[in-house]
Amino acid sequence: MRICFVGLGTMGLPMALRLEERGFGVAGWDAAEGVGAALKGRAPTLEAAAEGATAVITMLPQGEDVAAIHAAILAGGDTGRRIFIDSSTIDVTTTRRLAAQAAAAGHGFVDAPVSGGAEGARAGTLSFMVGGESADIDAALPLLDAMGGKISRFGPAGSGQAAKACHNMICGITALGVCEAFALAEALGLDQQTFFDLCSGAAAQSWILENRCPVPGPAPDAPASNGYAPGFAAQLMAKDLRLAQAAAEASGQETPFGAEAALRFTAFAEDAESGNLDFSAIYRTIRRG
Ligand code: NAD
Repeated sequence: MRICFVGLGTMGLPMALRLEERGFGVAGWDAAEGVGAALKGRAPTLEAAAEGATAVITMLPQGEDVAAIHAAILAGGDTGRRIFIDSSTIDVTTTRRLAAQAAAAGHGFVDAPVSGGAEGARAGTLSFMVGGESADIDAALPLLDAMGGKISRFGPAGSGQAAKACHNMICGITALGVCEAFALAEALGLDQQTFFDLCSGAAAQSWILENRCPVPGPAPDAPASNGYAPGFAAQLMAKDLRLAQAAAEASGQETPFGAEAALRFTAFAEDAESGNLDFSAIYRTIRRG
C-alpha cells in the first residue's frame, strides 16, 4: 500500500517515519519548505506525493487545511479508490462533509484523531479515536496499528472527532485544576516535589499531572522543566477546547467547566509567544506573586 502523508510537523513527521520504518511506501508532503526532510520519501509537490497512493493521511492544523488537501487530491483525477484518513484534530461538521465528499467520489474516509503527543508519535504508542464505515476502518487498521498502541472505534464518520473533543476537554479542565492546586500549594509554603510525589501516588494522579506538571523541577522531562517548550502548544489546546464548545453547542449539552477552560486558554494563547509555549505554561497566569 502506497501512502501519501500530508503535514510533516511536530506530529506528522514522527508518524510518517514510523510507517516508513515499518516498511510502508510513504510519500510525504508539507507546505513549508524544508519541513520533513528526514523522511526518505519526502516529495517535492502534493501531486507527486499523491500519485499512485491508495491511502492519504492528513496531519494538519485546521479543518480548512484538510479540506483544501482533499479538494486538491480529488481534483487530480480518477486514479482508483483511495482511503482518506484524517488524524488532525478538526471539527465534527467539516469531518462529516469531507466523509460525504469522499464517498460521493467513490473513496473511503476515516477520521482518526490522536492522543499521546509527539512522544507517543515517536514511540508508536498513539491512541487513535476512530470514526467511519466499518470496511474503511478495517482497511485503515494496518496503518493505524503501525503508528499507535490503542485504537478505539466509535461509529460513523465524525465520531472519532467527537471523542477527541470530549477527551481534550477533560485534559484542559484537568490542567487548570492541577495548575490551581500547585499555585495554592506554593502559596501555602508546601515543597513542590513532595506535593508532586504525593499526588502521583494518590487519588489526584493523572497523565496531565505526571507528564505536564506545571512547575519546573518535579517532572524533569515535562515542558515546565524545559522552558515550557511544547509538548502540546497552548494555541492547540485553546483550539481543541473551542472545538469541544462548538460540539457542546451543536448538541445542546451545557459544559460550563469546558467553557471556562476554553476562555482561559484562548486568552492565554492570544499572544503568539505564549501560544507557542506548552499549555502547562498557563500556570504563569494562575500563580500570583
Ligand atoms: P504542526 O504545526 O507542528 O504541523 C502541521 C504541519 O502542517 C506544518 O508543518 C505545516 O507546514 C503543515 N501544513 C499546514 N497547512 C498545510 C497545507 N495546506 N498543506 C500541507 N501542509 C500544511 O502541528 P502538529 O502539532 O503536528 O499538529 C497537527 C494536528 O495534530 C493538529 O490538528 C493538532 O491539533 C493535532 N494534534 C497535535 C498534538 C501535539 O501534541 N502536537 C497532539 C494530538 C493532536
